Amino acid sequence: MSTAVRIAYDDLDLPLVVVVGGGFAGLELIQQLDGKPYKVLLLDKQNHHCFHPLLYQVATASLSADSIAHPFRRTVAPMRNVAFRMACATAVDPVRKVVITDHGEFPYDILVLATGSRTNFFGNSAIGSGAMRLKSISQALDIRSDFLQDFEAALYAQDETDQRRCLNFTIVGAGPTGVELAGALAEIKNTVLKREYRELHSDRMRIWLVDSNDRVLAHFSEQSSANALRYLRELGVEVRFRARVTGFDGRMITFQDGSTMESNTLIWAAGVKGRLIPGLEAGADIAASRYRVDRFNQIEGVPDVFALGDVALMREGSWERGHPQVAPAAVQQARTLAENLVRRAKGRPMRPFTYRDKGSMATIGRYKAVVDLGRFHFGGIVAWLTWMFVHLMALVGFRNRVVVLFNWAWKYLSWKNTIRLIIRPYVPKKAPVEDPIA
Ligand SMILES: Cc1cc2nc3c(=O)[nH]c(=O)nc-3n(C[C@H](O)[C@H](O)[C@H](O)COP(=O)(O)OP(=O)(O)OC[C@H]3O[C@@H](n4cnc5c(N)ncnc54)[C@H](O)[C@@H]3O)c2cc1C
Repeated sequence: MSTAVRIAYDDLDLPLVVVVGGGFAGLELIQQLDGKPYKVLLLDKQNHHCFHPLLYQVATASLSADSIAHPFRRTVAPMRNVAFRMACATAVDPVRKVVITDHGEFPYDILVLATGSRTNFFGNSAIGSGAMRLKSISQALDIRSDFLQDFEAALYAQDETDQRRCLNFTIVGAGPTGVELAGALAEIKNTVLKREYRELHSDRMRIWLVDSNDRVLAHFSEQSSANALRYLRELGVEVRFRARVTGFDGRMITFQDGSTMESNTLIWAAGVKGRLIPGLEAGADIAASRYRVDRFNQIEGVPDVFALGDVALMREGSWERGHPQVAPAAVQQARTLAENLVRRAKGRPMRPFTYRDKGSMATIGRYKAVVDLGRFHFGGIVAWLTWMFVHLMALVGFRNRVVVLFNWAWKYLSWKNTIRLIIRPYVPKKAPVEDPIA
């Protein structure tokens, strides 16, 4: 059965583009197709776009959840040819040209999959069941509640070992997410814990950043990696290189070399894999967990089905293993696809996509960041201001920009992370759970 839901633009006699996923790629695509000769239907299992780069600030109580999210309905409301339905795509039938969702089937003329990625535990379910993740707002709120609960629990700890376990935070993966999270937790230790938990010895709180590599920010320049490591150490983060975590039971972390570490909290930031949807296996690179796409983002061998962003694997130029799974790649691909769909509607040939790498940046606490822009690598306060400006401008929604700017100003002037409320207590999961939004 096809979905019986009527969509306001049904009377328009135009081909229907169904976009699954309103992340960086999907949102950019629908905005570019606004007013173009297509009917567009955005499907997302959430009702809002989430700005991932600032999730760690929600997790560490610097920003409220709603300041980094934007409801799809607000975006779509003024667009006459675009509609939104909250639905989770569970399969695609490319022969019948339908997307199957938890709310029925949606037919398409052109399908665009922009479903992003999920946390990759590399098959280790022993870690997956106990580790915390940072891929959605609800997970960021879990991390926030967890560390605040741990602070409170530490005050009731029976002995020093117990207290240290409550105050031991281990982050696996020294990429931008791990580095930014570690820096933010270290700032909390140096400010909030010292000032507001006076009965606790703040030096018992330890923040570990663990990586199997031998440098932090491995994809950045060596200069930026070295600067980031220095900043982390200045803040008191303990970095453990060439260490591979093999197990975690909620109280104890086990490493491949047999060593162990007592810790209530393990945050996994060591990798992602594309979120594939059943039905299109023929066009998928299962090992990479991404769809193989040509230079026009069409999934190989599947006519009229395209993939964008984290879930797309396009080999072009020097990107033999595909583009990095970052927001600029998703946005650039979406822009090119929108242009190409318009060209296609006019009967013109499509133009191949070429990725423009605009550089990388990460922040490690107040006044500290690293930026790589082509041949230029810089750190310190200039990099920090650059990081803030770029992230502020990239946020979706004017209100969000104002709220985030105000929160940052307040935090950096007052030295306080003010949003430290345990509203929805975090209960550690006992068994592996497949989070539908992760
Ligand atoms: C914590 C964190 C920090 C990051 N920091 C940076 C950074 O600083 N700079 C940077 O460039 N990149 C960063 N990234 C990476 C960046 O967020 C991704 O590369 C980018 O979001 C990819 O865009 P996308 O559109 O492919 O997927 P996403 O933005 O992940 O969007 C996917 C969308 O699809 C929806 N969806 C998924 N499955 C289904 C389904 N079955 N049915 C319906 N809807 C579905 C999801 O709800 C979501 O809205 C970060 C990522 C994380 C997790």
